[in-house]
Amino acid sequence: MTDLALDATQLDRYSRHVVMDRVGPDGQAALLDAAVVVVGAGGLGSPALQYLAAAGVGRLGIVDDDRVERSNLQRQIIHRDADVGRPKVESAAETVRALNPDVTVDSHETRLTTETVGLLDDYDLVVDATDNFQSRFLLNDAARLRGLPVVHGAIYEFEGQATTLVPGGPCYRCLFPTAPEPGTVPNCAETGVLGVLPGTVGSIQATEAAKLLLGEGEPLVGRLLFYDAASLETEVVPYEWRPDCPVCGDGGVECVDTVDYEGDCRVETDDE
Ligand SMILES: [Zn+2]
Repeated sequence: MTDLALDATQLDRYSRHVVMDRVGPDGQAALLDAAVVVVGAGGLGSPALQYLAAAGVGRLGIVDDDRVERSNLQRQIIHRDADVGRPKVESAAETVRALNPDVTVDSHETRLTTETVGLLDDYDLVVDATDNFQSRFLLNDAARLRGLPVVHGAIYEFEGQATTLVPGGPCYRCLFPTAPEPGTVPNCAETGVLGVLPGTVGSIQATEAAKLLLGEGEPLVGRLLFYDAASLETEVVPYEWRPDCPVCGDGGVECVDTVDYEGDCRVETDDE
């Protein structure tokens, strides 16, 4: 716990946190002292960034190399119509700063690759708001090497999923050992998504991140949450650590530099 004291404005801003036994001034100070990086300023990143900013997470990194397109606005609510054509990190950072001046924003206008993944070193927690398997595997591997927790989310049409990967628990490769072959899964231009769905799943990711930073509740460790917006039913499926996992198994880490993370296999997972 930190001894960061809250000033009068912060006591007011975060009063609904401060009054709670399970957060309180110490919990709020921990949030203000935390650094979270959200990889992807799209559908999942939009609610995750805004809720984490509003909650007073003191430093937020935003990683994205895309520009805002009009077709994004149906679900990526951190961007506005006037932002079309701007870098997503720029428009997302502007929204975050307007929401809460307590938050320091780091804009990383880059694609996450083996060359750029070192930027994770500056953070305590990773929110995986990417939309493709390559980025998910890279984030999983790089975060595990650094001992960082990752909150994962994914969406497809009416279906979403979320899970939390912490050191000592199973990783994303324990759940999905290999990415599907390129071309065997639809790309993002071919698939659709209900506009509000990433709002739900990204909010679940923000919830998990806040819980981890506060040390409260039971995060989705070793549990994969499925959410079906069509029926509004959820299912939580347990999964286990794999001793033969190439990242967190008995053999130690071997994937980060050996796997081809390039390509553009923009897909969603099946519940395989
Ligand atoms: Zn693993």
